[in-house]
Amino acid sequence: MRRLMVVAIASSLAFGFTSVHALPGPTACMFVGVAGLHVLPDGSLTDSPSPDEQERYVRLTLESRERIANTFGEPKAKPVLVYFSRPDGFGPFKLNAFGSTQFIGPHTCVMIGPAGQSIDVVAHELMHAEIHERAGFWSRFMKIPTWFDEGLAMQVDFRPKYLLAAEDAHGLDEVRHLTSFSSFFSGGEQVIISHYAKARVLVANWVERVGRAAVYQQLHQLRYGQSFAEAIE
Ligand SMILES: [Zn+2]
Repeated sequence: MRRLMVVAIASSLAFGFTSVHALPGPTACMFVGVAGLHVLPDGSLTDSPSPDEQERYVRLTLESRERIANTFGEPKAKPVLVYFSRPDGFGPFKLNAFGSTQFIGPHTCVMIGPAGQSIDVVAHELMHAEIHERAGFWSRFMKIPTWFDEGLAMQVDFRPKYLLAAEDAHGLDEVRHLTSFSSFFSGGEQVIISHYAKARVLVANWVERVGRAAVYQQLHQLRYGQSFAEAIE
């Protein structure tokens, strides 16, 4: 058990980066299989025993995957998808009430909380899992800057608060400097919202240039030695 804890902590430190509204939960991803959750017909997991809620989760997953399919083509990633109903997580695990995506090597978990039960949030998080699937764990980790990862996830996330305000439209390219998780998510809430909004526009411009149908292929190229600048920019 002690050894297990050491592995869990080491993994948290090494790979504990999450996406929107970050709170680390990689240990939850490691141990989700033994958390005693209900298994839904599509393989997703939840702590909710309510048949109505379970049915809603299945529909939400379906509609979120459809949004990705309609935007970039059929998604291939098969993350462990967890819907939890308490705002602070499930079991002993503390998680973000909206949503987060956890990566433990090739293993991916998308954890959706009660505040994130919308197609926007679920599609956003599933898109992170898709980027990971297409680019591969190490390429994503080593090569893809956070502004691009978030900007691409925002292409399937239509929440109006992340639309770029006219007064923020200047200095769009400054977002390219936000290559790390810590730089992208630094500043107050409004600053971070403007990072998302700018990244969304920058990546939308890129998608328009390469074409939606080519996005998965562009990500895939990162697996074969190409740098981000060569494959994407
Ligand atoms: Zn994100």
